[in-house]
Amino acid sequence: MADFAIPSGDTPDSAFDISLRPPLFDEFTGQEKAVERIQLLVEAAKQRGEALQHILLSGPPGLGKTTLAYIIGNAMETEVKTTSGPMIEKAGDLAGLLTNMERGGVLFIDEIHRLQPTIEEYLYPAMEDFKLDIVIDQGPSARSVRLNLARFTLVGATTRSGMISAPLRSRFGMTCRLDYYDAEHLQKIVLRSAGLLNAAIEPDGALEIARRSRGTPRIANNLLRWVRDYAQVRSSGLITGPVAQQALAMLEIDEDGFDEMDKRIIEALISLFNGGPVGVNSLAVAIGEEPGTIEEVHEPYLIMNGYIKRTPQGRVALTRSYRKLGMEPPRNAPQ
Ligand code: ADP
Repeated sequence: MADFAIPSGDTPDSAFDISLRPPLFDEFTGQEKAVERIQLLVEAAKQRGEALQHILLSGPPGLGKTTLAYIIGNAMETEVKTTSGPMIEKAGDLAGLLTNMERGGVLFIDEIHRLQPTIEEYLYPAMEDFKLDIVIDQGPSARSVRLNLARFTLVGATTRSGMISAPLRSRFGMTCRLDYYDAEHLQKIVLRSAGLLNAAIEPDGALEIARRSRGTPRIANNLLRWVRDYAQVRSSGLITGPVAQQALAMLEIDEDGFDEMDKRIIEALISLFNGGPVGVNSLAVAIGEEPGTIEEVHEPYLIMNGYIKRTPQGRVALTRSYRKLGMEPPRNAPQ
């Protein structure tokens, strides 16, 4: 499968991604529960003329966490400053960001689970009391200075909600988990994106793309881009169902949205570990992937679609995984 369709938590936002980002809640498809809750908080904060409370968004890459942070900023009619956990290296970096926030402004910290513990400590009073205690100078002249900050809203995003420390989590007013999208919602997203890209598309064409997008809008948009090029060069330009199918077949994209690594995971689980249970570290060594990537990118999709399950003893292949590989599941394989 082509690299561009493989989701990664580390991909910097491309201009393409940004151009397709819905700016308003009304244009954001799906995730109804999360959106409804956030909209309610926004409405209440606006009515009271207050800054919105801090919000933590979790979920696999490409599901719309960054997009929601910008939508929140738009709805609050305020600026959005973005950074990410690994980018904040020193307390001074954090101080620079926070002291430059306008009142009510949104600070978006992507990959917030990767913040260094010392930086996290500085963040607590900033989130709670809008104060920042920083130490200036070194040695005998070192002293602590307390800075008052404008009331800001922290929107944190994470692909690993389990890695957020309890003290940090407790400082968010609300935590929302984003889930994979079903094909119907993704179809809507593809049709909207096609409109923005001026690509002629039929609903069937959009559905073909949606079905193979691994439940992920970012992948859907990337596949749309490829299918549009294919339709232009190999066909009349109109993306019909069959045209989308041919285009995606050329990329060897699996009908269930599997990417190469998903396939390797279930293959290893079945052929090397006898269907499991196996721990994530052993699985990671066997397939040459980081345990973290398996846990945050691949497993959630495989679990949601009933291919594997997590047990206290480790990962176990379900009957669906055997069928996927064209094998008859053993009689004792879990459903
Ligand atoms: P994340 O921050 O979770 O990795 P992004 O917010 O960057 O994901 O979204 C990736 C791409 O998918 C963006 O280009 C955005 O346009 C699109 N996207 C995500 N969610 C939606 C949605 N609900 N409706 C429409 N487009 C979406």
